[in-house]
Amino acid sequence: MNDILIIGAGYTGMMAAVGIARRTKAANVTLLNPTDRFNERLRQHQVAAGQELGDHRIPDLVEPAGVRFVEGWAAEIDAAGRRVVLGDGRELHYDTLVYAVGSSTPAVDHAYTIADPKLADALRDNATGVLTVCGAGLTGIEAATEAAEAYPRMTVRLLSRGEPGSMMGPKARAHLNRALDRLGVEVRTGVTISKVLPGAIELEDGDRLPTDVTLWTTGVRVAPLAAQAGITTDDTGRVVVDATLRSVSHPEIFAIGDAAAIRQGYGTIHGTCQSGIPSAAHTAESITRQLKGKAPKSFRFGYIHQPVSLGRKDAVIQFTNPDDTPGRFYLKGKAAVFYKESVSGSPLKFYRMRMAVPAKLTGRTGGRRNRLP
Ligand SMILES: Cc1cc2nc3c(=O)[nH]c(=O)nc-3n(C[C@H](O)[C@H](O)[C@H](O)COP(=O)(O)OP(=O)(O)OC[C@H]3O[C@@H](n4cnc5c(N)ncnc54)[C@H](O)[C@@H]3O)c2cc1C
Repeated sequence: MNDILIIGAGYTGMMAAVGIARRTKAANVTLLNPTDRFNERLRQHQVAAGQELGDHRIPDLVEPAGVRFVEGWAAEIDAAGRRVVLGDGRELHYDTLVYAVGSSTPAVDHAYTIADPKLADALRDNATGVLTVCGAGLTGIEAATEAAEAYPRMTVRLLSRGEPGSMMGPKARAHLNRALDRLGVEVRTGVTISKVLPGAIELEDGDRLPTDVTLWTTGVRVAPLAAQAGITTDDTGRVVVDATLRSVSHPEIFAIGDAAAIRQGYGTIHGTCQSGIPSAAHTAESITRQLKGKAPKSFRFGYIHQPVSLGRKDAVIQFTNPDDTPGRFYLKGKAAVFYKESVSGSPLKFYRMRMAVPAKLTGRTGGRRNRLP
């Protein structure tokens, strides 16, 4: 029997594990994750604002499909020996490895990241203080608006070099700016942060802004696990893959989701669930093809949307061209809230659906074929 090991039970690792196990009985499929609770990363800004999420046990989601779940931390990949050494010394052998460790924002002294479990308490304890959100990317915008809505007496400041929503079209961006305004978020653009200090932010122009809680949302990195194993990675730690999503240096390793540097005609895909889930579904298909002696196919992906929540009562969805440039259409208000909620809730619904429907009937999922060269 072939041993297939998936490191990381986030959105993409779960999808790959279930997809492989449902397609073939000719492999032992093992899924490794540090905890047995599924982390709904799409909703981390909601957790930060004090909302309780559902409790989803990973074994309940994957074991019915025939996946073995192992709780543990991958500390080392021995690529020559085809084994993964866990933090507690246990070892897992693989014939094929799926690298799905996701990504994170690097920690900065005196600042929280969105994944920090202590952030929710810090916001609650400073409900009348100042929250400074550094970075107006989608995570920064979602966190700032969520906090401003949950804590109306808090001063929420959003600092950024560029304009919030700069990747959106003018109408969607205008709606975004109106929402920031309505929620009282103080936006300051064109700034470069030189230092985060305890209780203050220092800007390059010499300004010093007092703060009670600082949230750092910029810069994405992937753990150095693959790089330390001699697997080819890019400068952010993502595994460089070929057109079929296999590592260019180690073809027995597939990389998916945020942990993979996936090239398409328009450039390298940036980490989203939107692109990650299709990469996982494609990999499940490729691995089962290989088990049948067939070659894996090339992966092609084009973006559909940029969904952004603006608190619980508002959102904006910019529909896009396959290369993620803004298209003509956008949604706002209640329709956008409904749409965004469907996006955030869909992965878990989808894993459950995969259990109920024969694998033959479930093809690739999400995304759409990239129409660009
Ligand atoms: C606030 C917020 C909102 C977002 N909204 C959207 C959105 O609306 N649409 C969208 O498409 N994307 C969105 N994203 C991005 C999306 O969450 C990520 O692209 C997605 O989670 C990537 O999935 P993944 O499986 O690659 O990684 P993850 O979901 O991060 O999962 C990685 C898993 O690997 C595990 N792991 C890591 N290292 C190890 C190790 N050494 N050993 C064992 N396990 C390990 C982790 O514990 C984790 O369980 C959002 C992100 C944030 C933060």
